[in-house]
Amino acid sequence: MSDQGLRASVELMRERGLGSEAIRVFEHYFHQLQAGALGTIPEDSIEPLGDIQALGEVHVSDEEARAALSKTAVIKLNGGLGTGMGMTGAKSALEVKDGLTFLDIIALQVLALRERWGVELPLVLMNSFRTSEESLAILEKYPELAVEGLPLDFIQNAEPKLCPDGLMPVRWPQDPELEWCPPGHGDIYVSLVTSGVLDALLEKGIHYAFLSNSDNLGATCDPDVAAWMVEHGLPYVAEVCTRTKSDRKGGHLAVRKADGRIVLRDTAMVAEGEERFFRDIKRHNTFNANNVWVDLEVLRERMTQKEGVLGLPIIVNHKNVDPADPSSPEVIQIESAMGTAIEVFEGSEAILVPRTRFRPVKTTNDLLVIRSDFFSLDESYHVVAAVEGPEPFVDLDSAYRFVSGFEKRFPRGVPSMRDCTSLRVIGDPVFGRNIRCVGDVLIDGYRRVLDDAVLGELPPGAVPPVSVPGEVRTVDEHLRAILATLEPAPTQRMPLTEALGLVVARDVRAEVNLPHFDNASMDGYAVRAESLAGAAEVPVRLHIVGEVAAGQQPTFSVGPGEAARIMTGAPIPDGADAVIAVEDTDGAASGEVECRTAVRAGRYVRPRGEDVTSGSVVVGGGSVVGARTLALLAACGHAEVEVHRRPHVVVISTGAELVAPGEPLGPGQIHDSNSSMLWAAAVSAGASAEVRGVVGDSEEELIAVLDEVAASADVVITSGGVSMGAYDVVKGALSGEGIDFVKVAMQPGKPQGYGLLTGPGGRQVPLFALPGNPVSSFVSFEVFVRPALRRMMRLTPEKRRLRPATLISGVDSFGGRRQFGRAVVSRSAEGTLVAAPVAGQGSHFVADLSRANALFVVPEDVTELVAGEVVDVLLLDPEA
Ligand code: AMP
Ligand code: MG
Repeated sequence: MSDQGLRASVELMRERGLGSEAIRVFEHYFHQLQAGALGTIPEDSIEPLGDIQALGEVHVSDEEARAALSKTAVIKLNGGLGTGMGMTGAKSALEVKDGLTFLDIIALQVLALRERWGVELPLVLMNSFRTSEESLAILEKYPELAVEGLPLDFIQNAEPKLCPDGLMPVRWPQDPELEWCPPGHGDIYVSLVTSGVLDALLEKGIHYAFLSNSDNLGATCDPDVAAWMVEHGLPYVAEVCTRTKSDRKGGHLAVRKADGRIVLRDTAMVAEGEERFFRDIKRHNTFNANNVWVDLEVLRERMTQKEGVLGLPIIVNHKNVDPADPSSPEVIQIESAMGTAIEVFEGSEAILVPRTRFRPVKTTNDLLVIRSDFFSLDESYHVVAAVEGPEPFVDLDSAYRFVSGFEKRFPRGVPSMRDCTSLRVIGDPVFGRNIRCVGDVLIDGYRRVLDDAVLGELPPGAVPPVSVPGEVRTVDEHLRAILATLEPAPTQRMPLTEALGLVVARDVRAEVNLPHFDNASMDGYAVRAESLAGAAEVPVRLHIVGEVAAGQQPTFSVGPGEAARIMTGAPIPDGADAVIAVEDTDGAASGEVECRTAVRAGRYVRPRGEDVTSGSVVVGGGSVVGARTLALLAACGHAEVEVHRRPHVVVISTGAELVAPGEPLGPGQIHDSNSSMLWAAAVSAGASAEVRGVVGDSEEELIAVLDEVAASADVVITSGGVSMGAYDVVKGALSGEGIDFVKVAMQPGKPQGYGLLTGPGGRQVPLFALPGNPVSSFVSFEVFVRPALRRMMRLTPEKRRLRPATLISGVDSFGGRRQFGRAVVSRSAEGTLVAAPVAGQGSHFVADLSRANALFVVPEDVTELVAGEVVDVLLLDPEA
């Protein structure tokens, strides 16, 4: 089946005019994909990189530098589309700093280097078929950039995206260009050959190329690295930087035990269950900056020898055919990474460079810092920090994630960040002019941030410019922050009976008419209406020409004066246009039938397409599958329906005192009740769920379990270990790991942890760290986790509806926190709801929790309610 896929792909590539090397490389990878290649590098096959040369200790004379630069070209990987930032065109066309785009800055950096060293230093872009035109238009501003005998760009190869089952090239008639993708930046070596640029460079006496991403503003063509490479006759040099906690997700170099060669292990190449080693920044203490230097002669030799197939490790990427539409069908993209070529060349080296050579803009958070006054461009157009010390940490809310949203919210420029250590924005405020961030800034709310505001350390007496700064979040703020991080659950085609309760991913159209054919809605006789004119006054006798039952196809037709016996659901014979009910006849089975009433044409006939016409939408995307939806889908012949699948929830309890139910209790021990409770709550919310069991109060053990679980879970719920105790394991292990521990103004459930856990391949798994007391855990689930699961499943409304109920006894509440009490709610004789708070309102009362059927909600500004007052209640059980 998939050989067919290969043939079809190759055919398409030929039609598109792609070179034979490109096709050979595609074939090579296709076979690997078929053979189930994962392209992983297991930890026990490698050793950490060990000591390497630091750029700071390389000493190069001006002469050596000039000599090396005179034989070097700058090649920028410029195929990026910035989809992650919501862009559709070339990412490098984005304005990053002082009104200049990435490409402007790159061009100006190259021109400055040429002038400083008196060298030719060609600049060539590797564009994709999507980025070329736009990028060259920007470079037109710099006519002096062009170098004789060389193009300003070459176009990266393209390959078909493949359907996961069958590996056929995907079809996407809505936008056929989306059927194609570039084969990753590892394709640069092939494209250099197929475009003729490699030969052209060597022809001009250019022997080295510096390859880097165009969105990395730190990747300038450093003469010292060039000279070092030339001096040592190195075929290939990769720049690495010292790894910090925040680089744990980036690829790193290591030494392959088998042959001593340096290899690159990217996120996608981590073997299952080995996340931990990959993220260990002490063991693998540098990361790959994707700035690469290649000896072009060695490259040409290699490419000729291998007929264009360097054999870089395969990367199998799963994406949606339309990257901007997560509900479009899934595809496989076969890719390879530029940096993995390090293993191909004998004698490759790594060099340790300062962080300043790795300054990528991957998110609008990065963009904010780069645009701000924390950085400036020097006379060589290098990005330099205006202030010493670490870069400010920026975390903007989802509304700012796309460039369009970002620009709208900073219409007068970004804030001053020189004195800022961190800026977090929850909510959606628009920023005014001339704003300054000082120290740690948390903006939480929706109000506009006024012009000239100073955020963070406020001058005495100043009025805070935004709604609720501070470290305690309201319930609504916390929920909003959670919901903002969630992606819809992936869609999947499912058999009808498994889709109950799930949300349909896209409109389903009928491929048939309902009814499929004209048929009878009554048992009786199919006739021509005209044959029965006047039958009400004088009965008419018709000749019976045949009989048709449901499931039969009549082979005769009905003429004037004729009738055919017909059953409900049977096709109307040709010639007939109405049915007379058997009750209005003498019911004869053969011969002649006496008819005692007239009928109009169409009487008791269900015409074809009356219910559904073929091609019309029968079930809209977004609707929830219920019994009636299933009936309709089945009637239209669909055996499956594409829905957002159930998120898989893994429940973990923490605490050294916990013992599984059924086990005997030792001194100080209690049974784990949260696991079963949270499992059931997740299942009742529509998720699929699994109990992982109890983890003691050991951070190592918890991290190991989470590493494992992050490979398969869509959501992780932990309970316990989040408050202020000495053994609060969850907080200890996960603080600073992308999980935020906050205080929420509610009771119970004040300590809450939430964030995205990073699993293998960079998958982001929402993690809820709920407090351990059973009642707190339960309330937290209802208030935060259930809405989140519903959001992921695309179910609305996300929150359960509150209803008014009359209290039959008074309650006290903390001021300033929203209280969720437990109550038994019933209906009064008048039909209104009454709420009886349960006796045990402490967070450890499991029996009273189980007795209750509702939570009652006391607002933040209320401290006391008396009997007879009305409270909002949230009914926990399905209503009868
Ligand atoms: P912690 O937040 O870990 O300090 O736990 C708070 C309280 O909840 C302690 O009394 C724990 O023993 C109890 N607790 C924690 N986890 C569970 C669980 N899974 N089942 C029952 N009780 C628990
Ligand atoms: Mg505990």
